[in-house]
Amino acid sequence: MLLAIAATALGGSSVQINGTLHGGLAIGLDWFLLDLFLMALIYVPLERLWPQYPQQGTFRKEWTLDVVYFMSTHLPLQILSFLVLLPATQATKYLGVPVLQGFIGRMPWLLQFFLAVVVADLAEYFIHLALHKVPFLWRFHAVHHSSQALDWIAGSRSHFVDDTLVRGFILAPLMLGFSQSIILAYLIFVTIHATWTHCNFGPNAKWLEKYLVMPRYHHWHHTSQKEAIDKNFAIHFPWIDKLFGTYHFPDEWPEQYGLAGEELSPSFFGQTIEPFTRKKKNASKI
Ligand SMILES: [Zn+2]
Ligand SMILES: [Zn+2]
Repeated sequence: MLLAIAATALGGSSVQINGTLHGGLAIGLDWFLLDLFLMALIYVPLERLWPQYPQQGTFRKEWTLDVVYFMSTHLPLQILSFLVLLPATQATKYLGVPVLQGFIGRMPWLLQFFLAVVVADLAEYFIHLALHKVPFLWRFHAVHHSSQALDWIAGSRSHFVDDTLVRGFILAPLMLGFSQSIILAYLIFVTIHATWTHCNFGPNAKWLEKYLVMPRYHHWHHTSQKEAIDKNFAIHFPWIDKLFGTYHFPDEWPEQYGLAGEELSPSFFGQTIEPFTRKKKNASKI
Protein backbone atom coordinates (compact mmCIF):
# COMPACT_ATOMS: atom_id res chain seq x y z
CA MET A 1 0.00 0.00 0.00
CA LEU A 2 2.80 2.38 0.99
CA LEU A 3 4.83 1.56 -2.11
CA ALA A 4 1.87 2.19 -4.38
CA ILE A 5 1.16 5.53 -2.69
CA ALA A 6 4.85 6.52 -2.78
CA ALA A 7 5.09 5.62 -6.46
CA THR A 8 2.04 7.74 -7.22
CA ALA A 9 3.43 10.65 -5.22
CA LEU A 10 6.55 10.52 -7.37
CA GLY A 11 4.50 10.78 -10.54
CA GLY A 12 3.25 7.22 -11.07
CA SER A 13 3.03 6.08 -14.65
CA SER A 14 3.23 9.64 -15.97
CA VAL A 15 6.95 9.81 -15.16
CA GLN A 16 9.02 10.10 -18.32
CA ILE A 17 11.82 7.59 -18.56
CA ASN A 18 14.19 8.52 -21.38
CA GLY A 19 11.38 10.28 -23.13
CA THR A 20 7.66 9.70 -23.37
CA LEU A 21 6.61 6.11 -22.89
CA HIS A 22 2.85 6.39 -22.52
CA GLY A 23 0.04 8.84 -22.69
CA GLY A 24 -2.21 9.44 -19.70
CA LEU A 25 -4.19 6.27 -20.42
CA ALA A 26 -1.40 4.28 -18.79
CA ILE A 27 -2.72 5.28 -15.37
CA GLY A 28 -6.02 3.57 -16.05
CA LEU A 29 -4.53 0.45 -17.57
CA ASP A 30 -1.87 0.01 -14.88
CA TRP A 31 -4.52 0.30 -12.26
CA PHE A 32 -6.78 -2.14 -14.06
CA LEU A 33 -4.17 -4.89 -13.77
CA LEU A 34 -3.12 -3.92 -10.26
CA ASP A 35 -6.70 -3.88 -9.04
CA LEU A 36 -7.63 -7.19 -10.58
CA PHE A 37 -4.62 -9.33 -9.69
CA LEU A 38 -3.08 -7.65 -6.69
CA MET A 39 -6.29 -7.57 -4.69
CA ALA A 40 -6.86 -11.30 -5.16
CA LEU A 41 -3.18 -12.02 -4.60
CA ILE A 42 -3.02 -10.13 -1.32
CA TYR A 43 -6.40 -10.82 0.19
CA VAL A 44 -7.19 -14.42 -0.73
CA PRO A 45 -4.09 -15.85 1.05
CA LEU A 46 -4.78 -13.65 4.11
CA GLU A 47 -8.34 -14.92 4.26
CA ARG A 48 -7.18 -18.53 3.86
CA LEU A 49 -4.55 -18.22 6.58
CA TRP A 50 -6.39 -16.21 9.23
CA PRO A 51 -10.12 -16.27 8.51
CA GLN A 52 -12.65 -15.01 11.02
CA TYR A 53 -15.18 -17.45 9.60
CA PRO A 54 -13.13 -20.51 8.47
CA GLN A 55 -16.17 -22.49 7.32
CA GLN A 56 -17.01 -19.75 4.78
CA GLY A 57 -14.28 -20.62 2.23
CA THR A 58 -13.14 -18.63 -0.80
CA PHE A 59 -15.80 -19.92 -3.18
CA ARG A 60 -18.72 -19.27 -0.90
CA LYS A 61 -22.35 -18.89 -1.93
CA GLU A 62 -22.89 -15.97 -4.33
CA TRP A 63 -19.17 -15.45 -5.01
CA THR A 64 -19.82 -15.54 -8.76
CA LEU A 65 -22.34 -12.70 -8.38
CA ASP A 66 -19.63 -10.63 -6.70
CA VAL A 67 -17.15 -11.45 -9.46
CA VAL A 68 -19.69 -10.05 -11.92
CA TYR A 69 -19.92 -6.87 -9.80
CA PHE A 70 -16.14 -6.65 -9.60
CA MET A 71 -15.74 -6.88 -13.37
CA SER A 72 -18.75 -4.82 -14.43
CA THR A 73 -19.07 -2.07 -11.83
CA HIS A 74 -16.05 -1.87 -9.57
CA LEU A 75 -13.28 -2.02 -12.19
CA PRO A 76 -14.87 0.28 -14.79
CA LEU A 77 -15.57 2.82 -12.05
CA GLN A 78 -11.95 2.67 -10.90
CA ILE A 79 -10.73 3.25 -14.43
CA LEU A 80 -13.29 6.00 -14.96
CA SER A 81 -12.17 7.78 -11.78
CA PHE A 82 -8.58 7.77 -12.96
CA LEU A 83 -9.49 8.89 -16.45
CA VAL A 84 -11.74 11.61 -15.07
CA LEU A 85 -8.79 12.88 -13.08
CA LEU A 86 -6.88 13.79 -16.21
CA PRO A 87 -9.36 16.37 -17.51
CA ALA A 88 -10.17 17.19 -13.88
CA THR A 89 -6.68 18.57 -13.41
CA GLN A 90 -7.61 21.12 -16.02
CA ALA A 91 -10.93 21.68 -14.26
CA THR A 92 -9.21 22.34 -10.93
CA LYS A 93 -7.80 25.49 -12.56
CA TYR A 94 -11.36 26.78 -12.59
CA LEU A 95 -12.96 24.79 -9.74
CA GLY A 96 -10.04 24.93 -7.36
CA VAL A 97 -9.93 27.64 -4.75
CA PRO A 98 -6.45 29.18 -5.22
CA VAL A 99 -6.09 30.30 -1.58
CA LEU A 100 -6.95 26.78 -0.42
CA GLN A 101 -4.71 25.12 -3.00
CA GLY A 102 -1.81 27.36 -1.97
CA PHE A 103 -2.41 26.74 1.73
CA ILE A 104 -2.63 22.95 1.37
CA GLY A 105 0.15 22.80 -1.24
CA ARG A 106 2.65 24.27 1.22
CA MET A 107 2.10 21.45 3.74
CA PRO A 108 4.34 18.36 3.78
CA TRP A 109 3.06 15.71 1.37
CA LEU A 110 2.11 13.24 4.09
CA LEU A 111 0.10 15.86 5.95
CA GLN A 112 -1.71 16.77 2.72
CA PHE A 113 -2.51 13.11 2.20
CA PHE A 114 -3.80 12.68 5.76
CA LEU A 115 -5.95 15.78 5.41
CA ALA A 116 -7.35 14.46 2.12
CA VAL A 117 -8.35 11.19 3.84
CA VAL A 118 -10.12 13.17 6.59
CA VAL A 119 -11.95 15.40 4.08
CA ALA A 120 -12.91 12.37 1.95
CA ASP A 121 -14.18 10.40 4.93
CA LEU A 122 -16.30 13.33 6.15
CA ALA A 123 -17.82 13.66 2.66
CA GLU A 124 -18.31 9.89 2.52
CA TYR A 125 -19.99 9.94 5.92
CA PHE A 126 -22.77 12.26 4.77
CA ILE A 127 -23.49 10.62 1.43
CA HIS A 128 -23.37 7.20 3.12
CA LEU A 129 -25.82 8.44 5.78
CA ALA A 130 -28.13 9.71 3.02
CA LEU A 131 -27.88 6.35 1.22
CA HIS A 132 -29.25 4.73 4.39
CA LYS A 133 -31.84 7.33 5.40
CA VAL A 134 -33.39 8.43 2.11
CA PRO A 135 -35.68 5.56 1.00
CA PHE A 136 -35.05 6.09 -2.73
CA LEU A 137 -31.29 6.05 -2.22
CA TRP A 138 -31.47 3.05 0.13
CA ARG A 139 -32.86 0.96 -2.75
CA PHE A 140 -29.49 1.32 -4.48
CA HIS A 141 -27.34 0.93 -1.36
CA ALA A 142 -29.32 -2.15 -0.23
CA VAL A 143 -27.46 -4.07 -2.94
CA HIS A 144 -24.17 -3.51 -1.08
CA HIS A 145 -25.79 -4.66 2.15
CA SER A 146 -27.31 -7.80 0.64
CA SER A 147 -24.13 -9.91 1.12
CA GLN A 148 -24.73 -12.53 3.77
CA ALA A 149 -21.06 -13.38 4.01
CA LEU A 150 -18.31 -10.79 3.78
CA ASP A 151 -14.91 -11.15 2.18
CA TRP A 152 -12.58 -9.10 -0.04
CA ILE A 153 -14.77 -9.38 -3.13
CA ALA A 154 -18.09 -8.82 -1.31
CA GLY A 155 -17.06 -5.16 -1.05
CA SER A 156 -17.40 -4.84 -4.83
CA ARG A 157 -21.10 -5.65 -4.70
CA SER A 158 -22.46 -2.20 -5.21
CA HIS A 159 -25.01 -0.66 -7.56
CA PHE A 160 -23.35 1.70 -10.07
CA VAL A 161 -25.58 4.59 -8.89
CA ASP A 162 -24.33 4.02 -5.31
CA ASP A 163 -20.69 3.83 -6.43
CA THR A 164 -20.96 6.90 -8.64
CA LEU A 165 -22.66 8.99 -5.95
CA VAL A 166 -20.07 8.10 -3.32
CA ARG A 167 -17.15 8.63 -5.69
CA GLY A 168 -18.56 11.97 -6.82
CA PHE A 169 -19.16 13.21 -3.28
CA ILE A 170 -15.63 12.28 -2.28
CA LEU A 171 -13.90 13.73 -5.34
CA ALA A 172 -15.77 17.05 -5.40
CA PRO A 173 -14.34 18.52 -2.15
CA LEU A 174 -10.91 17.03 -2.87
CA MET A 175 -10.77 18.85 -6.19
CA LEU A 176 -11.26 22.19 -4.48
CA GLY A 177 -7.92 22.22 -2.76
CA PHE A 178 -5.79 19.12 -3.33
CA SER A 179 -3.26 18.38 -6.06
CA GLN A 180 -3.67 15.58 -8.56
CA SER A 181 -0.99 13.42 -6.94
CA ILE A 182 -2.83 13.58 -3.61
CA ILE A 183 -6.18 12.71 -5.19
CA LEU A 184 -4.60 9.85 -7.10
CA ALA A 185 -2.90 8.53 -3.96
CA TYR A 186 -6.20 8.78 -2.13
CA LEU A 187 -8.01 6.78 -4.83
CA ILE A 188 -5.45 4.00 -4.51
CA PHE A 189 -5.66 4.13 -0.73
CA VAL A 190 -9.47 4.01 -0.61
CA THR A 191 -9.60 1.04 -2.98
CA ILE A 192 -7.14 -0.95 -0.90
CA HIS A 193 -8.59 0.13 2.44
CA ALA A 194 -12.26 -0.32 1.51
CA THR A 195 -11.54 -3.77 0.11
CA TRP A 196 -9.59 -4.65 3.23
CA THR A 197 -12.43 -3.67 5.58
CA HIS A 198 -14.70 -6.29 3.97
CA CYS A 199 -12.18 -9.12 4.39
CA ASN A 200 -12.93 -12.33 6.25
CA PHE A 201 -9.86 -11.73 8.39
CA GLY A 202 -9.87 -12.51 12.10
CA PRO A 203 -6.78 -11.03 13.79
CA ASN A 204 -7.34 -7.67 15.47
CA ALA A 205 -4.92 -4.92 16.35
CA LYS A 206 -6.80 -3.62 19.36
CA TRP A 207 -4.67 -0.46 19.66
CA LEU A 208 -5.19 0.40 15.99
CA GLU A 209 -8.85 -0.39 15.46
CA LYS A 210 -9.91 2.60 17.53
CA TYR A 211 -8.16 4.94 15.09
CA LEU A 212 -8.41 3.20 11.75
CA VAL A 213 -11.36 1.25 10.37
CA MET A 214 -10.44 -2.45 10.43
CA PRO A 215 -12.52 -5.38 9.11
CA ARG A 216 -14.34 -5.91 12.42
CA TYR A 217 -15.56 -2.29 12.43
CA HIS A 218 -17.02 -2.38 8.92
CA HIS A 219 -18.45 -5.85 9.55
CA TRP A 220 -20.61 -4.24 12.23
CA HIS A 221 -21.87 -1.86 9.56
CA HIS A 222 -22.99 -4.88 7.53
CA THR A 223 -24.75 -6.81 10.28
CA SER A 224 -28.50 -7.38 10.23
CA GLN A 225 -28.54 -7.36 14.04
CA LYS A 226 -30.94 -4.69 15.25
CA GLU A 227 -28.58 -2.92 17.64
CA ALA A 228 -26.14 -2.02 14.88
CA ILE A 229 -28.52 -0.92 12.11
CA ASP A 230 -27.45 2.48 10.69
CA LYS A 231 -24.17 2.58 12.58
CA ASN A 232 -20.49 2.86 11.57
CA PHE A 233 -20.80 4.89 8.37
CA ALA A 234 -17.17 6.05 8.29
CA ILE A 235 -14.83 4.13 6.01
CA HIS A 236 -11.48 5.30 7.38
CA PHE A 237 -11.77 6.82 10.86
CA PRO A 238 -14.09 5.45 13.59
CA TRP A 239 -13.90 8.79 15.45
CA ILE A 240 -16.08 10.35 12.74
CA ASP A 241 -18.94 8.07 13.83
CA LYS A 242 -18.20 8.93 17.46
CA LEU A 243 -18.45 12.59 16.58
CA PHE A 244 -21.91 12.16 15.01
CA GLY A 245 -23.27 9.57 17.45
CA THR A 246 -23.37 6.59 15.07
CA TYR A 247 -20.57 4.56 16.64
CA HIS A 248 -21.20 0.91 17.55
CA PHE A 249 -18.24 -1.29 18.32
CA PRO A 250 -18.62 -4.09 20.88
CA ASP A 251 -15.72 -6.44 21.60
CA GLU A 252 -17.02 -9.39 19.59
CA TRP A 253 -17.83 -9.92 15.89
CA PRO A 254 -21.39 -9.79 14.55
CA GLU A 255 -23.30 -13.04 14.11
CA GLN A 256 -25.35 -12.30 10.99
CA TYR A 257 -24.97 -10.21 7.89
CA GLY A 258 -27.25 -9.00 5.14
CA LEU A 259 -30.60 -7.32 4.89
CA ALA A 260 -33.15 -7.71 7.65
CA GLY A 261 -36.65 -8.28 6.31
CA GLU A 262 -35.90 -7.34 2.73
CA GLU A 263 -35.44 -9.53 -0.36
CA LEU A 264 -33.58 -8.45 -3.46
CA SER A 265 -33.48 -10.10 -6.85
CA PRO A 266 -30.75 -12.77 -6.78
CA SER A 267 -29.27 -11.81 -10.18
CA PHE A 268 -26.94 -8.99 -11.20
CA PHE A 269 -29.35 -7.84 -13.88
CA GLY A 270 -32.31 -7.89 -11.49
CA GLN A 271 -30.41 -5.98 -8.81
CA THR A 272 -29.33 -3.37 -11.36
CA ILE A 273 -32.84 -2.69 -12.67
CA GLU A 274 -34.90 -3.21 -9.50
CA PRO A 275 -34.02 0.02 -7.63
CA PHE A 276 -35.34 2.10 -10.54
CA THR A 277 -38.61 0.22 -10.92
CA ARG A 278 -39.43 -1.13 -7.47
CA LYS A 279 -42.58 0.08 -5.83
CA LYS A 280 -42.10 0.95 -2.21
CA LYS A 281 -42.32 -2.26 -0.19
CA ASN A 282 -43.59 -2.61 3.32
CA ALA A 283 -40.41 -4.22 4.49
CA SER A 284 -37.74 -1.89 5.70
CA LYS A 285 -34.16 -2.51 6.68
CA ILE A 286 -35.02 -2.37 10.36
ZN1 LIG B 1 -23.99 1.21 4.24
ZN1 LIG C 1 -19.33 -2.35 2.94
